[in-house]
Amino acid sequence: MNILAVGAHPDDLEISCAGTLAKLKRAGHHIIMCNACKGDKGHYHIPPDELTEIRRKEALASAALISSEVLTLGFGDGELLAESQENRMKFIDLVRYARPDIVITHAPNDYMPDHIAVSQLMFHATFFATLPSFRTENPAADKVPALYYMDNLSGLEFNPTFYVDVTDTFQTKLDMLEKHQSQLVWLKEHDQVDIMDFVTTFGKTRGIQAGCTYAEGFVQHMAWTRPNAVRFPV
Ligand SMILES: [Zn+2]
Repeated sequence: MNILAVGAHPDDLEISCAGTLAKLKRAGHHIIMCNACKGDKGHYHIPPDELTEIRRKEALASAALISSEVLTLGFGDGELLAESQENRMKFIDLVRYARPDIVITHAPNDYMPDHIAVSQLMFHATFFATLPSFRTENPAADKVPALYYMDNLSGLEFNPTFYVDVTDTFQTKLDMLEKHQSQLVWLKEHDQVDIMDFVTTFGKTRGIQAGCTYAEGFVQHMAWTRPNAVRFPV
């Protein structure tokens, strides 16, 4: 199967679904990790152009650990608007390029405006990618994929309807996250968060809920045709 995971910034997918992506890869599926934004504003001292290149390399190093394809849509951080037809078309073309069976993206109630915009745009794009009258570089998709929302940051008001036991891929998840060195520093300075500890503690919490050591939680988007589109093949 083709799995398309779309986060707003490089490191978002690692934080919320990399254990599951590692499992999906091991099960033989093709993984595409897409970061909509460049991550160009996540630092106090490094200027945006320089930071873009650093974060591109960090994302590549992380994705290489699970042999995932990695893409960016090239938006500036904080400049991604959901209510824009131009932006919608970029997301539609992403879906058409990836031809996913399953899409994983941010929850609609995540904490950061770029995350919420990506969530909305992926909801729009997964449907509109099937309409041939919307012309983009890639041809129209032949189906609407299943859509899963990954945990929001810290799980506030997010009640998973589906858990993946990631105990055996949790170290890979941490190794992937650790490739984002610039963000380990940024999150400590800007948000007073040790993100490695944060992710480990949260993974354990979801594990307690799911009856295993470490878990990741998801909510499947429930709307006509989507629930029966495909089962999560981990
Ligand atoms: Zn983010």
